[in-house]
Amino acid sequence: MSPPALPLLPGNGRIAKIVKVVVLAPMAEALDYAMPDGMLLRAGEHVMVPLGHAKVRGLVIGLETPDPDEDLSRIKPVMKKLDDPVVPEASLNFWLWAAGWTLTPPGIFLNGCLRALKIPRPAPKQGYILTGTAPTRLTKARQAVMDTALVAMTLGDLAMAAGVSTGVVSALEKEGVLAKVDLPRDEAYPQPDPDFAPARLNANQSAAHQLLQMEQAKSAFAPVLLDGVTGSGKTEVYLESVADILRSDPEAQVLVLLPEIALTQAVLSRLEARFGVEVAQWHANITNGNRRRIWEGVADGKVRLVVGARSALFLPYRRLGLIVVDEEHDGSYKQEEGARYHARDLAVFRARLDGAMVILASATPSLETLTNAEKGRYAWVRLDQRHGTAQLPDISLIDMKQHPPERGQWLSDPLVGEILATLMRKEQVLLFLNRRGYAPLVLCKACGEKMMSPNTDSWLVEHRASGRLVCHLTGFSMRKPATCPHCGAKDSLISVGPGVERILEEVHSRFPDARAEVFSSDTTPDAASSAALIKRIEDGEIDIVIATQAAAKGHNFPNLTLVGIVDADLGLKGGDLRAAERTFQLLAQATGRAGRKLKPGRAVLQTYTPEHAVMQALAAQDRDAFYAYESMSREIAKFPPFGRLAALILSAKDQSLLNKFSRELALFIPNTEGVDVYGPADAPLALVRGQWRKRFLVRADRNRDLQAFVTHWLAAIKRPNAVRLVVDIDPYSFL
Ligand code: ADP
Repeated sequence: MSPPALPLLPGNGRIAKIVKVVVLAPMAEALDYAMPDGMLLRAGEHVMVPLGHAKVRGLVIGLETPDPDEDLSRIKPVMKKLDDPVVPEASLNFWLWAAGWTLTPPGIFLNGCLRALKIPRPAPKQGYILTGTAPTRLTKARQAVMDTALVAMTLGDLAMAAGVSTGVVSALEKEGVLAKVDLPRDEAYPQPDPDFAPARLNANQSAAHQLLQMEQAKSAFAPVLLDGVTGSGKTEVYLESVADILRSDPEAQVLVLLPEIALTQAVLSRLEARFGVEVAQWHANITNGNRRRIWEGVADGKVRLVVGARSALFLPYRRLGLIVVDEEHDGSYKQEEGARYHARDLAVFRARLDGAMVILASATPSLETLTNAEKGRYAWVRLDQRHGTAQLPDISLIDMKQHPPERGQWLSDPLVGEILATLMRKEQVLLFLNRRGYAPLVLCKACGEKMMSPNTDSWLVEHRASGRLVCHLTGFSMRKPATCPHCGAKDSLISVGPGVERILEEVHSRFPDARAEVFSSDTTPDAASSAALIKRIEDGEIDIVIATQAAAKGHNFPNLTLVGIVDADLGLKGGDLRAAERTFQLLAQATGRAGRKLKPGRAVLQTYTPEHAVMQALAAQDRDAFYAYESMSREIAKFPPFGRLAALILSAKDQSLLNKFSRELALFIPNTEGVDVYGPADAPLALVRGQWRKRFLVRADRNRDLQAFVTHWLAAIKRPNAVRLVVDIDPYSFL
């Protein structure tokens, strides 16, 4: 029997296939279009399709054969196939899964993944090549050009190779002896050479490397925690795994994820030294040209090694063999704007999808990862000693109740003594305070008013270097006024509490001969300035570095032997779920900067709560005790990793509308065993940029489908357009 005749499309041939397209717009579902005759499409291809009266970009995610009795008259055809590189299947599946996991409409999520394609392709360079036409006259210079132009070259290259002026080349082109042609595009990136500069691993590192090789040999999803003290050589070891993967499969791609750009630079140079080539780097500060070049190179498999920040996870890899998540515990892996995702968790999922290896490296793993390793879900590879003769620093606590500094000062006598001794030995000091600017609060001593960010629940931070008051939340800034804006009193504004600039002032007055500088995101706004500052510290041009977390991680400063933590209690305030864990990790990292090479290091922590579990664990260098304590308290509360969380953040300009809708939404909370919902509550930041904010927190047992619960709940009630809703799966910020 012959197949049933296919219905005709209006003016456009027959429907052979239905094309499922995710249009790059906030749609919850893929839409159906018809594949016109003569257009061959497959999943991963880019198309233009009609949407209402508009013409929009979309990505084909699948094809279907229509049922014979289906009414196809309303299905519109795809308008055009675009020639952007096809998204490999594994990447497409991952993107769609990630959209579902984060409860983001797929069109919005894919729009983010495809952003690089909005950058116009650079026009191809033009080259000159012989046409076979003979010149009207021949000179020595002309002959040289004709001997050289056997392959196409740019004007400049050809003139230089032939040793003539560009005028000779142009004249030959005018005569038709040479023709202009498009040159092939730049090779994506040179291929990394796994055998360029192999490391000489020490015995511990070799053992760790062998364990990693055993995991890799499984040729299946292999999650590994690479758990090593600061300076043990984790980077050195994972670079060898990168080499193993590149060597074992000529098509395999490797991604090294890093939490921050400053760190990207340091690891980038190590990768380049190890593999002998320029390595593709992906983060917010790369040029548009590189963005497009890397995206395309990754899609067609030519770019095999990428180092980057969290968004590098969404490049269109063809065949990922290994993902390294360095400093896997770092909070900046959590994306807090737009689609909210945690790059470490998604990296593990991506590796699972591809049957790849994923190495999570840290000296202070997240409780999530550590628990997975303890339960045997991840392989656990440990490095317990620093490389060479380097020792972990001695850590001691200074009880600030016993050694209070004078008013307006923040360095206690014992810390000042340590700094002096270090300077006398001509060694370097790092003073750590995770607070940018001069003072976190400015208030009027006449009327008591605090200087607040406009329409926002946040203090303005004084930045004395720039003479401004800045809101770190919204970016608002103003010049520091001479009179109080509330009561008009003159010279009445006082600065309360210290930031790094204020510690610099104290250092200058106490150690006038020492060369001191601040290392924060304000003094190193981009990769180049951060690299320059790091170089100056390495070269010994700075004696005392006063740093925020921008400098706490990853760096190796051989002559740095004292780390002073100015306010060890700072991160414990505010007390969200991970406050203790985060404080422990940050301080362990910061103290870990001391004594990285030959000279022994010391770290001192100024604290008002020396009895706190975090301080005790740091002083005793007893990480396991801290994790055991922290793990127990989370397990009792069934909080992550022993349960799952989602936050709903509602916001609106109209406070009464927000309150009303929040109360209504609460009435629709589904009654599900194993799921608790807290709220609505005023968010700790109850007002931001004139928007009032309320929060719900959902806690679910691990075996519950949290996303399904939230979707089901939200579908039960229509939200007014004037109320904005953000869903944050696995929230890290509770503000
Ligand atoms: P981690 O990543 O664990 O903090 P790194 O890999 O940065 O440790 O190593 C710390 C320092 O020791 C670096 O300067 C590194 O170059 C050096 N190092 C580590 N292992 C070796 C090795 N096997 N040979 C030479 N230098 C090493």
